Formats: sequence, C-alpha cells, structure tokens
Amino acid sequence: MIQIAIDGPGGAGKSTVSKAVAAKLGIVYVDTGALYRTIGLYVKQAGIDPKDTEAVVKCLPDISIEIRYIDGKQCVFLNGTDHGDAIRTPEMSMYASAVSAIPEVRTFLLDTQRDIARKNSVIMDGRDIGTVILPDAQLKIYLTASEECRARRRYDELVAKGQNVRFEDVLAEMNQRDKQDSSRAVAPATAAEDAILLDNTDLDFDGTVNAIVELAIKTGLVD
Ligand code: C5P
Repeated sequence: MIQIAIDGPGGAGKSTVSKAVAAKLGIVYVDTGALYRTIGLYVKQAGIDPKDTEAVVKCLPDISIEIRYIDGKQCVFLNGTDHGDAIRTPEMSMYASAVSAIPEVRTFLLDTQRDIARKNSVIMDGRDIGTVILPDAQLKIYLTASEECRARRRYDELVAKGQNVRFEDVLAEMNQRDKQDSSRAVAPATAAEDAILLDNTDLDFDGTVNAIVELAIKTGLVD
C-alpha cells in the first residue's frame, strides 16, 4: 500500500493538489480536515461552544462519522447525512480548529483515518498525518507558501464558491487558525522530521502537482 502524507498550513493548496495527485497515481485521496469540520458542524447544530471541552467530549458518543466515496468524491456522513459544502464555511473552519484541539476528538477520529489507509493506497492531507496518523508513510510532504499567497488562494476559493468575504478577514482568520493549530498541546500542526518541505509560493497548481508526482517516482512509489 502506498501512503503519502501531506501536511501544512491553511491555503497551501493541500486538498486540491492532493486530489490531482491521487487521480494521477490512481490512489485514494483522503481529506482529514473534513472530519474535524463535520464534528464542528455537529457541535454547532447542538448549540455547544466548541471550546467547551467537557460538553464536546460528552456529545461524542452521539456522533457517527463515516467516509464514503461517491463517484470518486469523498463524502463525510454525519449520523447518516452528508452535509456537503455546509462544512466549508469560514465559521466551520474555526469550529473545526477549536474541536480539533481536544484530545478526545482526535482519538475519536484516529481509527477512521487509519482504517482507510490500511485498506487503500492513499494520499492523505491534514495537520498531523506525517507525525501521528501515518508515521510510517513512505513519502511525507510539508506543503507551504507565503502567508500573503496562501490567504489570496483561500480568498479566491471562497469567492469562487459565491461566499461574500473580505481579503483582510480571510488573512486574519487563516493566521489565527494556523496559530491555534500549531500551538495546541496534542498533535500540533507541524512538519514531521522526515518530511520534505515544499514551498509553492512560486509554483502554480500544475507545478506543485508535478513536483509531488516526481517525489513519488523518486521515492520508488510509482514508475
Ligand atoms: O484542512 P482543513 O482546513 O479542512 O482543516 C480544518 C481544521 O481541522 C484545521 O484548521 C485543523 O484545526 C483541523 N485539522 C486537524 N488535523 C488534521 C486535519 C485538520 O487538526 N489532520
């Protein structure tokens, strides 16, 4: 089984790039952020403060999370329902970041992530894939870019989805979330010691995809 771990801060293009690499290599793309976003959505719907650790932990037994691939697209089912893009709003980003700092939430999602990698060749993106989820991944990449460039990409992405956002707010939200993710006590967002740093500030989408495919070839994962 192939395991490629892609970690890095927000806006580096982890998910779009990983999706394209998965298609090129014929392996499964796993977006782990969607799992934390889905827990965030449940917590919001339940009217719980995402920073209220005790209340969030208490509601975990009521949550069932399942990943299914429909027409090749990853769908996350929360208690049997796929909420689609409702997990993709800036508000859900902050909810995801808050609940992801709770150790019990991370443990709750651990098996779901490892199970997929046990059964399929994967490229998995997140914040702790190379360090915690798939420590034995054959290829680990820490994908990053300048702050300005990452915020611009995130902004363009949200605008393309029809969301009414301001660049300054996107930049501030991104920085706050990255700070929160990298400073938490459990599984902080960080590069694994054996990860390859790939800064794509000056690389376009195709250039980034090709760089990762080349690394996969160099590592001997594909011909
Ligand atoms: O990648 P995405 O922006 O969808 O992730 C949403 C949030 O989920 C991140 O800001 C982070 O707090 C959390 N996350 C995490 N570990 C992962 C993936 C995401 O803590 N492996």
